[in-house]
Amino acid sequence: MNDSTIPDDVFDCLIIGAGPAGLTAALYTSRSAMKTLVLEGSSTVSQVTVTDIVENYPGIPEVNGFELHHRLRTQALSFGAEARAEDVLSLEKTSLGAVEGWTINTNLASYRSLSVIVASGARWRSLGVPGEEEFIGRGVSYCATCDGPFYRNRSVAVVGGGNTAVQEALYLTKFADRVTIVHRRDRLRASAILQERASANSKIDFCWDGVVDRIEGDTGVTRLRVKKLKGTDAYITLPVEGVFIFIGLDPLTDFIRGLVTTDGGGYIVTDSQMRTSERGLFAAGDCVVKPFRQIVTACGDGATAAYQAELYVDELRDRSY
Ligand code: NAP
Repeated sequence: MNDSTIPDDVFDCLIIGAGPAGLTAALYTSRSAMKTLVLEGSSTVSQVTVTDIVENYPGIPEVNGFELHHRLRTQALSFGAEARAEDVLSLEKTSLGAVEGWTINTNLASYRSLSVIVASGARWRSLGVPGEEEFIGRGVSYCATCDGPFYRNRSVAVVGGGNTAVQEALYLTKFADRVTIVHRRDRLRASAILQERASANSKIDFCWDGVVDRIEGDTGVTRLRVKKLKGTDAYITLPVEGVFIFIGLDPLTDFIRGLVTTDGGGYIVTDSQMRTSERGLFAAGDCVVKPFRQIVTACGDGATAAYQAELYVDELRDRSY
């Protein structure tokens, strides 16, 4: 026991999420000798782990997403951060001796910490059309890296027009004969370089101004019915055996709703120093309101949040003596 009134089992910083934001935060807090726990969730599937090639992480021209995740995690843990595969269910303010901290409840345990960094990320959005849920694992997928190899020499559709959709469509051309990108407008949202690559790829074609109406099949997917928003056809049917859906993300912030300020979509509002509306609670990465979601911006958020958490905890510890 030290001389502080703060109990010994209390963490300095508890980090929720082990994507690039959470792991970078853990690297910084543990390297600053803060007692750090990372709750990485019971599933290790994060966006980066299922990305085939990352080619815009500075200093590393090309790396597999899972490999990058592994390196970030190993580096963070090498400085003493602990990691546990538990799902956070709720958190609440709690009194820790003379100061206020947080209790974090998971599916397996409860922890107390002086500061918390929420880096819980975001999950893929679903279309909500007939056949989508029914054919998950039998033709409907949200992960090209996981399922692409099953579609060797077949035709597949990719739904969406953002960076993820186009990047994954390009990846799928390694296996599939034909990849049709179905997009609700007549121009892609994806970055120019990805657009150029998709247009130049002879295996990719586009179904513009179309929204998925239903996914059909028998034991697996056989057809995709698309409602056309422009042109003479009301509907068209694409004969595909796979439908890969990449229509954006929803933040994984249910456990914190009502506790901190969020926007209408549930993304956490922070200031430029990754401070939320609650003292001692910071947020970083894809779960926060921000204009540019990239691995490198998530890492930057994580480092900033960690620095602010350190300043905050130092002040609390000074006060607790
Ligand atoms: P996104 O940028 O939000 O794009 C989502 C796409 O899905 C948009 O084209 C959107 O259409 C479409 N869409 C949304 N709801 C739909 C619906 N209900 N039905 C049909 N289409 C729908 O999402 P993302 O591509 O997953 O990317 C997420 C973030 O990660 C972005 O910030 C992105 O830049 C980043 N990211 C970056 C890279 C990279 O730098 N290489 C790779 C992957 C992801 P509209 O265009 O009409 O809105």
